[in-house]
Amino acid sequence: MKRKLLMIPGPIEFDSEVMDAMSVPTPSHVAADFIESFGNSLEMMRQVWMCPSGQPFVVAGTGTLAMDIAGSNLIEPGDNALVISTGYFGQRFANLLKRYGAKVTLLTATLGNIVPLEDIEDALRKKKYKLMTFTHVDTSTAVMNDPKPIGALGKKYDVLTILDGVCSVAGEEIKQEEWGIDMVLTASQKAVGVPPGLALLVVSQKAMAAWKNRSEPVGNYYADWENWLPIMEAYMQRKPSYFGTPAVNLILALEKSLQLILKEGMEQRIKRHQNVGHAFRAGLKSLGLKTIPVSESVAANTLSAPYFPENIAGQAILSGILNEGVIVAGGLLPELKSSYFRVGHMGITAKNEVITTLKAIETSLIKQGLAIEKDVCLKTALEIL
Ligand code: PMP
Repeated sequence: MKRKLLMIPGPIEFDSEVMDAMSVPTPSHVAADFIESFGNSLEMMRQVWMCPSGQPFVVAGTGTLAMDIAGSNLIEPGDNALVISTGYFGQRFANLLKRYGAKVTLLTATLGNIVPLEDIEDALRKKKYKLMTFTHVDTSTAVMNDPKPIGALGKKYDVLTILDGVCSVAGEEIKQEEWGIDMVLTASQKAVGVPPGLALLVVSQKAMAAWKNRSEPVGNYYADWENWLPIMEAYMQRKPSYFGTPAVNLILALEKSLQLILKEGMEQRIKRHQNVGHAFRAGLKSLGLKTIPVSESVAANTLSAPYFPENIAGQAILSGILNEGVIVAGGLLPELKSSYFRVGHMGITAKNEVITTLKAIETSLIKQGLAIEKDVCLKTALEIL
């Protein structure tokens, strides 16, 4: 079978050095070399998240576990939580927080847009909240929030801020500490560049103090920081410890990927993602495809969400793209599922992947009878790249 290019919004294509790093005989989780790799990874997370005083956690699981860790450790029954939703994953956070007894107020953006800052401030003025969650890039809509002013509102109203950065960390700009964000969570399989299986988060000392001051025990045994904090502290001090067996090979991959990310440099990496995102959106536009985000200012750089052209079966377009050797993802928002598709362009994605994917989309659209001038989308994208 000819290898196809994986251009979904996670898992993505991974660097061969990352794959090599994990393709080793599995070490013991208390072996000196492994302890060093885990400790290094935790230290590098602080640099990638730009949160030098934050507490990093790496736990085997997915991004949803990272959300669960946030909800279970920080919510006590009856706490007020404000959830700002720009798509599918905002709704997931609301459902999750309710499980832990939160009284959730949901602020939902209109399709393709963000919730205006005035509306967020209005909600914060009306009620005292313990925490507020928001999604940096909602992977169902490709809509991007600007975390900086939301972090500032959190500070102003003394509310803990939780950023779902599953589709943004190491791809979009985040200065966690400077922007005053209390928790930034993600999963390994997206811009962090490691196969699925790790929940990753960095927590401010303020949020750790809120957890320490709980009056009730955490209602989720696996997620409880009581169990994981000593483990993370031990690895940072290069000491052996055990609570639950870490995903050792994935952590070796994480160490390598974080090294590559920091070698590229955060500023350069974010610029590269902005450039790729801009080029890809311009290419889609020149193919005549509209996208869900209502403007460039709220469009993500890590993925795009184009609508299928009217009166053409989406499934036929997706099959055509697959025939050209590129895997893209279908829609995710239940109400729009069959009218759009999604393309991830993060991590190691660069010029070649952008061009190959645009060409595959162009070929598929032409096969469906659309009058498209060949290679115009490629020229448009290349001018930006
Ligand atoms: N939040 C966002 C923004 C996501 O994109 C995803 C995954 N697509 C999740 C949360 C959940 O992550 P996971 O699938 O790893 O549980």
